[in-house]
Amino acid sequence: MTLNVDVAANLRAVKATLPEDVKLVAVSKFHPAEYIEAAYSAGQRVFGESHEQELSKKYEVLPKDIEWHFIGHLQTNKVKYIAPYISMIDAVDSMKLLKEINKQAAKHDRVVNVLLELHIAEEATKYGFTLDACREMLDGGEWRSLENVKICGLMMMASNVDDEVQIKQEFDTGAKFFDEVKEKYFAGDDSFCERSWGMSGDYEIAVLCRSTMVRIGTAIFGERVY
Ligand SMILES: *Cc1c(COP(=O)(O)O)cnc(C)c1O
Repeated sequence: MTLNVDVAANLRAVKATLPEDVKLVAVSKFHPAEYIEAAYSAGQRVFGESHEQELSKKYEVLPKDIEWHFIGHLQTNKVKYIAPYISMIDAVDSMKLLKEINKQAAKHDRVVNVLLELHIAEEATKYGFTLDACREMLDGGEWRSLENVKICGLMMMASNVDDEVQIKQEFDTGAKFFDEVKEKYFAGDDSFCERSWGMSGDYEIAVLCRSTMVRIGTAIFGERVY
C-alpha cells in the first residue's frame, strides 16, 4: 500500500517543534494500520486511539512494543477488552469508569495508568470533570483504595475556536488546576506529573502552557476520512 501522506516527514516536522521533554502521542484513529507502521518505522512507539473495536483490531496486527493510549470517551462495558494491554487511559471522566478500570486491571494483575479528563472548554458536548466535580471526587478519597490504577495527571481539550487568547486561557486554567491538585492530593507522588493538552491545531500554545504530553493526529497522518 502506498500512502499518500509522508508520515515520516510529518512526524519529523512535528518533533522538531516539540521540546524534548514533551511526550508525543501519535493519534492514529481512523487511519489504517499501514499509517501506524510508517510512523513506527520512523521510530514512534506511542499511539492514541479512541474506539475500542478499532484499537483491538490494530493491537492484534501491530508490533507488541507499541504503547497504546485510549484517548476518547470510554464506556465502562468496553474496559475489559483493552485492560490486558492498554498503556494509558487518557480520558477518565467518572469515578464509575475509574473503578471499572481498577477492577479489570486487577483481573490481569496490572496497574493501568490513567489521566483525569477536565471539562474546561466551552463546548457542552465534551466529556470530563468540571473543576468542582474533580475536587469533589478527589476529596471523596475512594480513589486512594484503587490499587490497580495509577492517576498520572490531567488531560483536557481546549475549545475548537480560532481565538488563541481563549485557547491559552483554557490551558492556563488547566495548568493552574494541576498545581492545586498536585499540592493537595499528590504532593509526594512523583507519578502524578502529566499535563496532557495540545492537538494538531493548538499544541504550540499548549506547550507554552506547560503541556507535558501532546496528542497529535492530523499533522502527522493527514485528514481523517470518517
Ligand atoms: C482526535 C483527537 C486528537 C487529535 O486531533 P488532531 O487535531 O487530529 O491532532 C487529540 N485528542 C483527542 C482526545 C482526540 O480525540
